[in-house]
Amino acid sequence: MVLYLVPLALTRVPSAMMATVPTAGVDFRDLLRSGQFSDLTVVCRGTEFKLHKVIACLQSPVFLAAVNSDFQEGRTGVIKIDQFDPETVRRLVEFLYTGDYDRQPQEPQPAQEQTQGTVLHVRVNAIADYYGVKALGHLATQKVKQAFQDNWDPKTFMITAKEALGASGDKTLHDSMARIAAQNMTDLVGCPELTDLVGDFAAEIMRHQGQKQAELVAMRQHAETGTARVTARFAKIIEEINQREYCRNTSCAEASFGCNIEQIDSPVGEPTYILRCSYCRCRH
Ligand SMILES: [Zn+2]
Repeated sequence: MVLYLVPLALTRVPSAMMATVPTAGVDFRDLLRSGQFSDLTVVCRGTEFKLHKVIACLQSPVFLAAVNSDFQEGRTGVIKIDQFDPETVRRLVEFLYTGDYDRQPQEPQPAQEQTQGTVLHVRVNAIADYYGVKALGHLATQKVKQAFQDNWDPKTFMITAKEALGASGDKTLHDSMARIAAQNMTDLVGCPELTDLVGDFAAEIMRHQGQKQAELVAMRQHAETGTARVTARFAKIIEEINQREYCRNTSCAEASFGCNIEQIDSPVGEPTYILRCSYCRCRH
């Protein structure tokens, strides 16, 4: 076969024809909304989702195996999901068709039904782990991390971590939760729910570690303020040396100002530095 490269100017399409050319690719969202050409149904506790095998099975090896099996799912094109709630299934389906979920804020729910956003992401991670949709598991973990970065709250963390350990088998999510815990150890050791989450002995280790971390932070802050004080003192000494022409002691016989810096060590904090006239020893 011979391919000819045609100059762009020659390929110009008449404007009347251009109007019929779509400006973007296929929007799978519309396909999801209309259910057109649907050949796969997912039923979750009475809620039905009209899917397409080509979209669902390309992203989930578990859906693929179910559809190809001789079991009921393969014969009927109906997959039943009972171990996850319909809202979590809806998020999975939204991801399969759009590559994201809950991009638009959800309608506010009654107070008693409100669940922490991070817990919802954990459930999404769990369903992604179960159906082998790796990209969704990764996305949900990122959303959990981002949520705690934006708004850290130890109580919410405890609830979310418990859900993550109980509902999801995704080690990446567990590792992320452990990292967040380690970064906020001093906050978590004050929570009574800690023992419930990790057990008596681990909680005790964390308490000691948290205490050590708090001590280290205090020591570092103390050292930092000490360094700042010394730096400020030296700036003053340099300024004094640069500006002073004569000793401030009027009876000092020295014609021009010469000086020494004296260091007085302190047993508790940083040393003190004193600027002295090298002739009469008065302080400056
Ligand atoms: Zn002097």
